Amino acid sequence: MRKIIISAGHGGTDPGASGNSYIERDLALELRTLIVNQLKTLYNVDALIDPPQNKLTDTLSWLRGKFGSTDILFDIHWNAGGGTGIECIVPDQSSQFERTLSQAIVDRISALTTWKKRAGGVKPESDTARKKLGWMRPNAENILLEVCFIDNKLDMAIYQANKVGIAKIIAEVLYKF
Ligand SMILES: [Zn+2]
Repeated sequence: MRKIIISAGHGGTDPGASGNSYIERDLALELRTLIVNQLKTLYNVDALIDPPQNKLTDTLSWLRGKFGSTDILFDIHWNAGGGTGIECIVPDQSSQFERTLSQAIVDRISALTTWKKRAGGVKPESDTARKKLGWMRPNAENILLEVCFIDNKLDMAIYQANKVGIAKIIAEVLYKF
């Protein structure tokens, strides 16, 4: 069975983005806890989580030796910068598994929340502002979710109203894949 490793993106001294009086690090930690609890409650699956104070570089070192190429590395982020909607990021040389799982997550969450799927919902890392993402490097199934825009009031109101449903969808898709 594949291991499921869920990272809350930023952590510790790295807060990530902020907006609408939210901090990305704290939102991601909360959503991760919701997903971990759903995996346990619905499927009796124990996801692996990195320590909450870890920054990305700490997480990448923490991960070393803990997983193999078929395990799922799922990283949670929020977008910022004036847009709206949901998307998943996959490596430039993505696997069919990475693309299909990402599309399923985006499609189902978009159906629940009415969030727009940005550029179809799944994009390669070279289409992101940073071009290269450390999270895409480990030899595993690498998926990075940008839940919605932290600086968009409506995105965040919809998120708050649906976060348990969103966590259930992610848990179900991660488990069924
Ligand atoms: Zn982020």
